Amino acid sequence: MPRITGLKSETQRDRFLNAAKSYVRGGALARTCGAKLRTGGVCEQLALAGETRCLRHGGPTAARRFRERQRAGLRQGSVSPEEWARAEARRARNALTWAWRKDPRLPGRTIDLGPDEVAFVASAADKGVDVDALYPALADWLRWRWRRHQMDRPDAARWHKAVREELPRQRAAADAAVAWVSLGITDKRTKAGRAAKAALRAGGIERARAAVDALRSASSAAVDVDMDKGVGKPAGPLTPLPVRPWTARAAADGWKRRRSDRQKAPPAPPRPAKPLGRPPRVPDRPEDLAAYGAVLRAAGPQVRAMYEAIPRQEDRLRFLRDLAGYANAPDDAGAQRRWLGWVTAEDRRA
Ligand SMILES: [Zn+2]
Repeated sequence: MPRITGLKSETQRDRFLNAAKSYVRGGALARTCGAKLRTGGVCEQLALAGETRCLRHGGPTAARRFRERQRAGLRQGSVSPEEWARAEARRARNALTWAWRKDPRLPGRTIDLGPDEVAFVASAADKGVDVDALYPALADWLRWRWRRHQMDRPDAARWHKAVREELPRQRAAADAAVAWVSLGITDKRTKAGRAAKAALRAGGIERARAAVDALRSASSAAVDVDMDKGVGKPAGPLTPLPVRPWTARAAADGWKRRRSDRQKAPPAPPRPAKPLGRPPRVPDRPEDLAAYGAVLRAAGPQVRAMYEAIPRQEDRLRFLRDLAGYANAPDDAGAQRRWLGWVTAEDRRA
């Protein structure tokens, strides 16, 4: 247990550590990731230790820090070698999947079918596909499909569709990726990338290659020309600047930073304490009800007529309560006011 300093006693230290348990990772009040999901919800995963997001939503830098912490944990013994190996395998798998998007010819696989590999190859051959001739990325994709539709949830129709319909689409995408690699283009948003894209659409890979070559020789020629005539003069940029250069624009009333601080508003006066409201009413006790009857009898026929004229039971009870209150404390202002209310209502009714 880590030594906690700055606490006054062992009891306080124990209590502190006990209370802190709710907030550490895995505790009831531990911080969750909270990233917005495409489904409209919010990520409920625990945030990584020392981070604000989970491994999925933390981004590459947080993932790198997580790996470094894991490595330190491996050295200190808090992370087991198996756990470390599993995590490293997962990272390698993810890295390979990303690399395949750029070049599907890279060797490797993310699934091992074991002894079922033979059955997989035979099943693919039945449908007319030679697994060995596929790019590693495509073979890997097909292995996952086979595993899904032939082992996990056997479905002959889905497997057939995967090989006959989905695989050709995957192959076309892989061929396109290979074409980009062969053109030497890693970013399609560059000038060469856009030119190659247009040429590829118009007339295939050869035309794209010609377009890219032409563009490259033109730009190197431009560099050569600049080098030739650039004697004592720095060569200008080859392309116009993509962004407008920054210029200072002063605000109408001067720079915000240079204005003196505005005076803060004076603090608001303290609010008066809120009245607590009426206390809950205690229900009438039996002896109170008996007393009400005695008060009503003593009050005389006029008051009794007022009482008889009240249609609702709860209003009658209220009438009796106010009458008894006035009879018991004729000097109390509240009792007077309540009773006067009944009298004026009677006057209005009459
Ligand atoms: Zn998350």
